[in-house]
Amino acid sequence: MNLILLGPPGSGKGTQAIRLQEADGLVQLSTGEMLRAAVASGSETGRLVGSIMEAGELVPDDIIVSMIDRRIDEPDCAGGFILDGFPRTLAQAEALDEMLARKARRLDAVIEIAVDDGALVERIAGRFSCAVCGAGYHRRFQPAAVEGVCDRCGATRFLQRPDDNEETVRTRLVAYHAQTEPLLPYYRARGILRSVDGMAGIDAVSTEIRAALGVSAA
Ligand code: ADP
Ligand code: ADP
Ligand code: ZN
Repeated sequence: MNLILLGPPGSGKGTQAIRLQEADGLVQLSTGEMLRAAVASGSETGRLVGSIMEAGELVPDDIIVSMIDRRIDEPDCAGGFILDGFPRTLAQAEALDEMLARKARRLDAVIEIAVDDGALVERIAGRFSCAVCGAGYHRRFQPAAVEGVCDRCGATRFLQRPDDNEETVRTRLVAYHAQTEPLLPYYRARGILRSVDGMAGIDAVSTEIRAALGVSAA
């Protein structure tokens, strides 16, 4: 199964992608994660995109498209993938269609995670992750079982993304509404769009996604 998770920054795409990955053997492809890895490695791409990401603007389509084009060909994607954070513009969506046709693969579903703008600032301002294993948390909505200790790996160091501040979130929301939201009618017209209520709790959203996909509970 090949899926897209579509929703504004902080809507829960990463949180839900990890759950689908663990339960269903699908591979999460997060363009944000790939770009952050490129920035950390100091590669040419990383040097190009760092300041754009820090400002909360979108990285040029050609960089993103060639990154995904190569990644989908890797063997771990053969059993299916979950696109998290891609496509984010109509040009990216068209490039995805073209590349999937070329690879004789198809999109099974696009899941929209709908969340009100008002909730997103708190979601993003409270987001942090384990510095060692990358597990995602939220100060209020998804705290570690023992404060200061990662549930998954026991590490005690955590990170907050430099772009997860209130000012940048507003720029990212503007980019979402202007450039990414037009993908909703694009996929609706194809009959593959499913919308879930992302304002619900994390478990309830997972249940709704599984129902929308017609897969049984994890
Ligand atoms: P995205 O990948 O769409 O940017 P994340 O999955 O990183 O979003 O979620 C943003 C933050 O909100 C994280 O800190 C996460 O723990 C929290 N979160 C995710 N889903 C929910 C939810 N349904 N209710 C409350 N908080 C959530
Ligand atoms: P979030 O889900 O919180 O918005 P991501 O981790 O998906 O964050 O993306 C972080 C940043 O990486 C974005 O603000 C943007 O600068 C860049 N980025 C990620 N994916 C794309 C994409 N498909 N197109 C353009 N820029 C992207
Ligand atoms: Zn950890």
